[in-house]
Amino acid sequence: VVEIRGLEKSFGDLDVLQGVDLDLYREENLVVLGKSGSGKSVLIKIMVGLLRQDAGSMKVFGQEVAALNKKELNALRLKIGFSFQNSALYDSMTVRENLEFPLVRNVKNLTRGEIDRRIEELLDGVGLPQSINQMPSELSGGQKKRIGVARTLILNPEIMLYDEPTAGLDPITCGDINNLILEVRERYKTSSIVITHDLACAKQTGDRMAVLLDGQFKAIGTFEEVFPKATDERVKSFYDYNF
Ligand code: ATP
Ligand code: MG
Repeated sequence: VVEIRGLEKSFGDLDVLQGVDLDLYREENLVVLGKSGSGKSVLIKIMVGLLRQDAGSMKVFGQEVAALNKKELNALRLKIGFSFQNSALYDSMTVRENLEFPLVRNVKNLTRGEIDRRIEELLDGVGLPQSINQMPSELSGGQKKRIGVARTLILNPEIMLYDEPTAGLDPITCGDINNLILEVRERYKTSSIVITHDLACAKQTGDRMAVLLDGQFKAIGTFEEVFPKATDERVKSFYDYNF
């Protein structure tokens, strides 16, 4: 569903992406690893048209993103769910209102019943049906992440982008979020990119790992292919640090 070839992006004399090749297959969970500042977020921003590459190709559902007009880009963005690092719920709205907002803004002519059913289905899906009338301030960090995922799913995205879904959570809650990522794929048939520094999360959720180093993906494959046998010192250091 995503095909990236020879992608390059610089900011002034900072060369961030230097010939990135990567594919995301249908209903796959692809984990992207790379140290802070390596260009993971830049890659995602090019994917949704927030940044434009200097060279190379980024195709999503077969369409070259840089060639889309504004209307086509908006249509594409509705198919891509982006779950933010800090969950970004609106603090002054209840959980129900947080979920309702993107739905009524983007989908016209829904009845009250349809809206309520969709919200209930998604809260059920993330295991928090009882939180519907709570404020974000009354939720724990892990619960906020779940609501954030529910809100991202409300527009039925075909691709989910998770930016550090387990950052700052205890190991048990990390495990819950990892399970949620797997359940979302089962239930909604999404293809996903999971950006993480957490190898336990990578191992549990990822069908394949891709390690971004010096502006290119140096190692791509299953967890077992990439990590225990790594020869590149820097790929290895990820593994040694985490296990
Ligand atoms: P982290 O793990 O910390 O989130 P990252 O891999 O997501 O890191 P990016 O946000 O992709 O890192 O940034 C890669 C580099 O590009 C950084 O050095 C950053 O300063 C630079 N950069 C990103 N966006 C811009 C921009 N709009 N203008 C100038 N420089 C930018
Ligand atoms: Mg980032």
